[in-house]
Amino acid sequence: MSKAVDLAAHPLTLWQGPLGLPDFSRIGDDDFGPVFDAALAAHQAEIDAIAGNSEAPSVENTLAALELAGEALDHVSSIFWCRAGAHTNDTIQAMEREVSPKMSRHFSAISMNEKLFARIDDLYQRRDSLKLDPETLRVLEKTWKGFVRSGAKLDADGKKRLAAINEELSSLGTQFGQNVLADERDWALFLDEADLAGLPDFLKSAMAEAAEMRGQKGRYAVTLSRSIYEPFSTFSERRDLREIAFKAFIMRGQNGGASDNSDVVRDMLKLRAEKAKLLGYGSFAALKLDDTMAKTPEAVHELLDPVWEKALEKAAADQKELERLAAEAGSNEKFAAWDWRFYQEKLRAEKFAFDEAELKPYLQLERVIEACFDVATRLFGISFEEKKGITVWHPDARVFVVKNANGSERGLFLADYFARPSKRSGAWMSALQSGYKLGHGAKPVIYNVMNFAKPPAGEAALLSVDEAKTLFHEFGHALHGMLTDVTWPSVSGTSVSRDFVELPSQLYEHWLTVPAV
Ligand SMILES: [Zn+2]
Repeated sequence: MSKAVDLAAHPLTLWQGPLGLPDFSRIGDDDFGPVFDAALAAHQAEIDAIAGNSEAPSVENTLAALELAGEALDHVSSIFWCRAGAHTNDTIQAMEREVSPKMSRHFSAISMNEKLFARIDDLYQRRDSLKLDPETLRVLEKTWKGFVRSGAKLDADGKKRLAAINEELSSLGTQFGQNVLADERDWALFLDEADLAGLPDFLKSAMAEAAEMRGQKGRYAVTLSRSIYEPFSTFSERRDLREIAFKAFIMRGQNGGASDNSDVVRDMLKLRAEKAKLLGYGSFAALKLDDTMAKTPEAVHELLDPVWEKALEKAAADQKELERLAAEAGSNEKFAAWDWRFYQEKLRAEKFAFDEAELKPYLQLERVIEACFDVATRLFGISFEEKKGITVWHPDARVFVVKNANGSERGLFLADYFARPSKRSGAWMSALQSGYKLGHGAKPVIYNVMNFAKPPAGEAALLSVDEAKTLFHEFGHALHGMLTDVTWPSVSGTSVSRDFVELPSQLYEHWLTVPAV
């Protein structure tokens, strides 16, 4: 038996660190398991109470009660998924494999709770006579639809099968991500001074740092982190090394052995198709798109196909020009994928008389962050104040207080910019806490995670134009989370249609190239 957990006092669920953050210094990797179990049980008890309420269903006793239930589970989950993405290890990964199917089972049981759905359905059928404000109506409709899409209307056999499918899919999803991370973490190409022809200084520094992180001080590592892989394939004069790196990059999760994803993908596709059919959709795409603005796969194709054809034509024309450059440079090899970035850079240098490595020193990470904050201040009146010395999930992660124009605190913004082997690749925004007003309300605690190459101690981190764009883009998502002004937690910030969610971030990206910024 595990020892009893007091959710009202545990640092994972009662956040009493600096600025109201969780006190990360008191959280151990082994805490997650028992706290998850206790939080799941507490949430289940709340759900049972709502479903078993003898009073007639009302917005307060059903919809609001459901939204506010599970606070401890939300708290432990948000910290756990932050760690699983941004700073994982063997203990966290093992816990992820255990917790994913458990969570799936838990939420399936809620969606398929007949008494609970009967109460939601009662409110939904009476929605026009309830005189709801637009936000509450939207939450009610979204909740009802969520139950139906999760199988609330299936018969007993259908419910059982769907719960099993969901559980298996969540395990497969975890396995997929862990396999990719394993290949990224385990693969590195160690080089020496003589192999570095063409590489700019910022990249050599980053590769030296990456080699040292992997225990090979004095050498240089090509890793599969984009911030190293991409400039390496852009600048390396060594075609043979570019080929090795390219092949490793595209083969992530496909290298045979324990971390190979081929079977995982096949099983996922099969289960997704079965799930869609069970819920009455023609395909998994149709199920996925049903609650988005696009609605159907046909609408998506109508938009994408013409763009795809134009893009293909353009790419073919580009390749012709790159082949010409390669021939002029004396290459008699057949033009290959690992030549693309390299000659694209040469073409750009020829056309515009500058190269990326020359432009790069202008994009210091600190200046780009300042520019990001400055645009937010000018557009929305909010400002950012860094608080040093606060322990969060990793020493590289930084904490900023977000302030309204009148100086009051709006929320917190956390940012974790540098790549490391314990972090999955890519860039993302998420929340430790979403902002909302219902019940006692909560201030948003939003974070961005990036994978920029870490400079050696004392040197400034430098970003490519693409990386700076990524920073602006993810900061746009973060703003969406920080500027949110809603009552209901389930519609806070980026909890919008999948095909609306990219609008604020893409608009924000655009500001990077505005001269006044
Ligand atoms: Zn995005």
